[in-house]
Amino acid sequence: TVGAVAINTFGEIAAGTSTGGIAAKLPGRVGDTPIIGGGTFCDDAICGAGATGLGEAIMRTCVCSRIANALEKGEEPNQACLSALEFMTSRIPEGDGGAIVLTKDGEVGFNFNSNQMSWAYIKQDENVIHYGIEKGD
Ligand code: ASP
Repeated sequence: TVGAVAINTFGEIAAGTSTGGIAAKLPGRVGDTPIIGGGTFCDDAICGAGATGLGEAIMRTCVCSRIANALEKGEEPNQACLSALEFMTSRIPEGDGGAIVLTKDGEVGFNFNSNQMSWAYIKQDENVIHYGIEKGD
């Protein structure tokens, strides 16, 4: 899965997520990726978000809308991603994954409770690409 979120100078946010799905998926399976609030979420008043991982778990626990709710409650972006993912895994133990978020204020967040996650972001005023592959415990 590849997720992307961007914000323009008017504060308009766009989020998009694309996936090949999971191995051995059944024909016709619709994963979490096109489910708004599941694998993708966007609201100019809060954030844009995207998730990767076991789609059945992501959509059943509304991971990306949960990230937005966590931000509204005052959680920091990285923590908002983690708490949404941890909630998912607490409810569906076989479900793990990663998530990205970009807030209405331009703050970047990402986190994961899967084995690893690749991420990258660019801030317009820095002219630098930040990127990495994070590995879990
Ligand atoms: N979430 C995707 C799906 O279940 C898979 C992935 O993130 O790699 O279709």
